[in-house]
Amino acid sequence: MIKDNLSNLLQSIPDSATLVAVSKTKPVASLLEAYEAGQRDFGENKVQEMADKATVLPQNIRWHMIGHLQRNKVKYIAPFVSLIHSVDSVRLLNEIDKQGQKNNRVINCLLQVRIAQEETKFGLTFDSCDEILNQNNYTHVRIRGLMGMASFTNNQAQIDSEFKSLAQYYKQHQEHHEWDTLSMGMSGDYPLALSCGSTMIRVGSRIFGARN
Ligand SMILES: *Cc1c(COP(=O)(O)O)cnc(C)c1O
Repeated sequence: MIKDNLSNLLQSIPDSATLVAVSKTKPVASLLEAYEAGQRDFGENKVQEMADKATVLPQNIRWHMIGHLQRNKVKYIAPFVSLIHSVDSVRLLNEIDKQGQKNNRVINCLLQVRIAQEETKFGLTFDSCDEILNQNNYTHVRIRGLMGMASFTNNQAQIDSEFKSLAQYYKQHQEHHEWDTLSMGMSGDYPLALSCGSTMIRVGSRIFGARN
């Protein structure tokens, strides 16, 4: 049951860590079940699906965009999104700033860093993060930290070193940029992510069951 999965999970993580329940592909009824158990942070990876769910679900849900975001779709989530984890280009950041301005709100963002060995993962290099942070003059974007995904592997040492590289960069910049969010860890690797300093985990299948 979703409720039991949630409470088991919450018992196993520190109070200081935020749990984002990743509800992509899951029906509204499942999200409502988690909501009724007290869950307020939900993660989706598709703009249309998030917007549709936000329309029918309670207003006090905090919506997290965790999937690759196209610039031409930012406008659909700009009015309500709570945190965009997947900022992977300057052009995307410019568009989020523009849409924040239009909606008269400051949009919270994380820079997604490519820490995995795999070719397929989206994300910035640490060098491009440096560039973005050095010329950060956005008025309607607030960068609150970083997001990263480890390689899909059973090699714990590799996952550990990937998480640690992100945590190290985070710690180096946290104070200066007043960051408060390091988003790393999913169903398979969240304990390791937390031990490496994660403040926010994104968990789907462990709460809602396997996706088709
Ligand atoms: C799907 C997804 C998750 C959750 O994955 P699970 O293995 O089901 O916990 C976390 N982060 C991102 C970016 C995802 O796309």
